[in-house]
Amino acid sequence: MDMSFVLREENRKLLDQVTDMIRDEIMPLEEEYQAEIAKGDRWTFTERQTEILEGLKQKARSRGLWNFWLTDSERGFGLSTVEYAYFAEQMGKTPLGAEVFNCSAPDTGNMEVFERYGTEAMKEEWLAPLLEGKIRSAYLMTEPDVASSDATNISMSCVRDGDDYVLNGEKWWSSGAGDPRCKVYIVMVKTGGEELPVHKRQSMIVVPAGAPGIEILRPMEVYGHDDAPHGHMHIRFTNVRVPAENILLGEGRGFEIAQGRLGPGRIHHCMRAVGQAEIALERMCKRSLQREAFGKKLAQLGANYDIIAECRMEIEMARLLCLKAAWYMDQGDARAAAPWISQIKVVAPRMALKVIDEAVQMFGGQGVSQDTPLAIAWTHVRTLRLADGPDAVHRRQIARAELRKHTQEKV
Ligand SMILES: Cc1cc2nc3c(=O)[nH]c(=O)nc-3n(C[C@H](O)[C@H](O)[C@H](O)COP(=O)(O)OP(=O)(O)OC[C@H]3O[C@@H](n4cnc5c(N)ncnc54)[C@H](O)[C@@H]3O)c2cc1C
Repeated sequence: MDMSFVLREENRKLLDQVTDMIRDEIMPLEEEYQAEIAKGDRWTFTERQTEILEGLKQKARSRGLWNFWLTDSERGFGLSTVEYAYFAEQMGKTPLGAEVFNCSAPDTGNMEVFERYGTEAMKEEWLAPLLEGKIRSAYLMTEPDVASSDATNISMSCVRDGDDYVLNGEKWWSSGAGDPRCKVYIVMVKTGGEELPVHKRQSMIVVPAGAPGIEILRPMEVYGHDDAPHGHMHIRFTNVRVPAENILLGEGRGFEIAQGRLGPGRIHHCMRAVGQAEIALERMCKRSLQREAFGKKLAQLGANYDIIAECRMEIEMARLLCLKAAWYMDQGDARAAAPWISQIKVVAPRMALKVIDEAVQMFGGQGVSQDTPLAIAWTHVRTLRLADGPDAVHRRQIARAELRKHTQEKV
């Protein structure tokens, strides 16, 4: 029996299809796909890699399992954020999951920006092929020289020159910019100075990935892994020129767009982390029942029952909190939802790291090796304590919302 809050019957059937496809058709190809990445130039796709990925995308699409993230939209399934969260959990179980259904970061957030704030020309040039899964995109905010968790520090120069803007500066941790299919960047830049209020100084601008003056300096490594062919790139902009109409909404509107972009994306990340924890617990349980030491199954040794029980309880608590944050999101008041999103953004990665770490332990030496997906899953989830806002920044938001309850004047 599965108790799924607020999941309408027709969407439960869709979710079952996604769950089955992940288990029966995607996960069995995961290992071969990963092995292909190691061959030849790791920043291009081998023929077999393309065949696996595009083959799965084709299957998903032909079954109508595509673009679920388009919540409350006529073009999507009209899923609520709560409903979509269940899909994200399933997709989190395999590194290929989100892309096969055209639901991967950072594309979903970027597509949302194009859909909400893009001009008709941008929608045609960038949104249409993104919705079709033909190209990919990156979101460039973080900079090496400033503390980017405070986005008011973002300082890439963007100066109007006739009909163009000219960009200079460096970005790093640009996820997905290593992928040869990545054709467009949404870039946070600085367009105003001290004459403007602090939240009106930054803007977002659309830059084609191949524009002259863009130099990919290196992939940033996560605990020694470059995450090819996706990549988290360090990029230099030297006099990169784009037409003035590429600015989204107008100068100084960067924060407004960022707020809209990051809320749903954070919930998706968290729910995928819940999925990663679920699959790690499943692997841990199977291993502990299959292997023996000191004359007993591993499960029966030491505190292993307690460890398994703790993992189960932590996953359940995190999932409920994530659904609650998603529910607030669905009520249409982003301000009210924000502290809940911050709570789950701290809780979900912390929980998933703990569960994956226990699974690693149950696997012994193999757990930290390349022979299980656990080690790499841990490094991925670890980055979630930084990406889309470090824990400390979210805790600050949570505390401020809590304190506000006691400082607001009563009416
Ligand atoms: C794998 C990965 C993928 C990423 N993908 C992208 C991407 O696609 N696009 C993009 O633009 N960025 C991306 N990032 C960057 C990420 O969003 C930033 O690293 C993050 O916002 C923090 O910025 P910073 O690294 O400049 O850290 P800083 O701002 O220098 O913060 C460092 C530390 O200072 C402390 N701190 C900061 N503020 C507070 C506070 N209020 N209270 C207490 N302590 C505080 C925290 O401990 C924090 O971790 C990615 C990062 C990683 C690791």
